[in-house]
Amino acid sequence: MDEKCTQLWEKLSAALKPQVSPDTFKRWFSAVQLIGATENALTFRVPNNIYQFWIESNHMAALQAAIVSAFGSPRAVKFSCASEVPGKLDEEILPEISEKEFARQNTRDAKQSSTALGLNPRNTFESFVVGPNNEIAHAASLAVAQSPARTYNPLFIYGGVGLGKTHLVHAVGNHALRQNPNCHVVYLSSESFTNDLIHALEQHRMPEFRARYREKCDILLLDDIQFLSNKKQTMEEFFHTFNALHEGGKQIFVTSDKLPTEIEGFEERLRSRFQWGLIADIQPPEVETRVAILKKKAATDHIALPDDVALFLGTHIRSNVRELEGSLIRLAAFASLTGAALTLELAQDVLKNILVVRGDKPDVETIIKVVAEAMQVKPQDIKGDRRQQNIARARQVAMFLTRKITGLSYPVIGEKFGGKDHSTVINAEQRIEQLTGEEPDLSKTVQSLLRRLNS
Ligand code: ADP
Ligand code: MG
Repeated sequence: MDEKCTQLWEKLSAALKPQVSPDTFKRWFSAVQLIGATENALTFRVPNNIYQFWIESNHMAALQAAIVSAFGSPRAVKFSCASEVPGKLDEEILPEISEKEFARQNTRDAKQSSTALGLNPRNTFESFVVGPNNEIAHAASLAVAQSPARTYNPLFIYGGVGLGKTHLVHAVGNHALRQNPNCHVVYLSSESFTNDLIHALEQHRMPEFRARYREKCDILLLDDIQFLSNKKQTMEEFFHTFNALHEGGKQIFVTSDKLPTEIEGFEERLRSRFQWGLIADIQPPEVETRVAILKKKAATDHIALPDDVALFLGTHIRSNVRELEGSLIRLAAFASLTGAALTLELAQDVLKNILVVRGDKPDVETIIKVVAEAMQVKPQDIKGDRRQQNIARARQVAMFLTRKITGLSYPVIGEKFGGKDHSTVINAEQRIEQLTGEEPDLSKTVQSLLRRLNS
């Protein structure tokens, strides 16, 4: 690395570290070098194309966010592989990736423009499995991709983590670009939007910022808009961006883990804007869809997946699609590395640690962990005392489910939840019982958690 690149890389790594887990950083980014930097693009040298594949598939949003935060604006990301032969799987990578995973590297050219925007070329409509849980969200996204700003504008899709929101956002971007390569697609997470705005403000570059999001944009894809909650100035700017785009006949597509009405500090006028278009949800897939997703993924990755193994995984891994895919990749990597056939026994053996096996009651810790993940709070917050609404709600749900699933006494549950009084547990139970009768969304969340924990 020349000196300039070394300095830039140091700055970028510092911005990247908070965006990914320490483990991810060590495994995937410590061997990366920055070898070229221009106003518009950054070129990274990676040891082999597994790194490129893995970073593109999993860490592009984090990398783009770090770029914006380090340098003030997005750049195209390019990779250069130190070796052109596919890298060997070393032991560190082994648990995460299947050897088959990088087989489709060669169609890179066509993907260049979309990857430069941070879109994962694998997230397309073709690779998306439609089921009763997501059919409206899928149909609306497809309509938007085919005729931007003509059908549902804005389109707002919401749903829990790992259920395919980002996939649909990328699919819209990829499709629109393929249909019309001159279409200006702007894709970013709401965090990047916020960072970008902060930098523009600091550096007095608001005109450029506005041009990027208002003038040079035919389709704005804003992922995870719940991150704008309680960020007044960002929301204000987004409101104006929204109006400018909408008036200019441009498409707006946002995703969120909550309904517009549930996002804290989301202003009324912005909420009402979303009523102009379509609001569609994505629910966790049922077992048939889970099996279909596994089969599709296996076919794309050239993994020979027997039906009984697909059914086993589909039945037991219920939380979300990301975990479902992760378990398949893990299994395939294990099989290909040890030369073992991918059988039901192997699946049961390899995945025993991550499965909540049918019949075993989950313990309190597991319930807390699962609820925390689904409701996007930290497990230690559930056991803690903070009263912030989303945390308090998650705590109540976890207590409610613990009582229902384990039947432990109120004082014991209180004890396990960081030493709370038994009356807190009783109140939580009553409150959730009442709320599930009034709020269909909460009721769905509780039902799906119960199903998952009782599996
Ligand atoms: P979210 O943004 O809702 O958290 P993602 O879009 O990142 O979820 O999805 C997680 C993983 O699951 C991605 O790899 C995605 O491609 C895959 N996935 C989700 N839903 C589907 C689906 N219906 N068909 C195929 N793959 C899916
Ligand atoms: Mg997402």
